[in-house]
Amino acid sequence: MSESASNTKNSRNSSRVQPHKHCRICQEAIPTKTEPRVCKKEECITKNEKNEKNQKQVRVLMLIFFGIFALPFVASIVLQLL
Ligand SMILES: [Zn+2]
Repeated sequence: MSESASNTKNSRNSSRVQPHKHCRICQEAIPTKTEPRVCKKEECITKNEKNEKNQKQVRVLMLIFFGIFALPFVASIVLQLL
């Protein structure tokens, strides 16, 4: 009952790939520190900006939607606690 961790020693041998990220738009490799996560192409930068705007809008809508559903729920809990 003592052979459980004997086969996992060699798993770190083949990790030679330098740390990097990929462009959100075209998946090209970019340096890890790149922020926002896109390459230098203007097309990708503008597309990423549009995406982020859309995501913000979606997030706000989700919050509003969630709020509408959560409010009665939270209110009933608060009322029960009072
Ligand atoms: Zn790109």
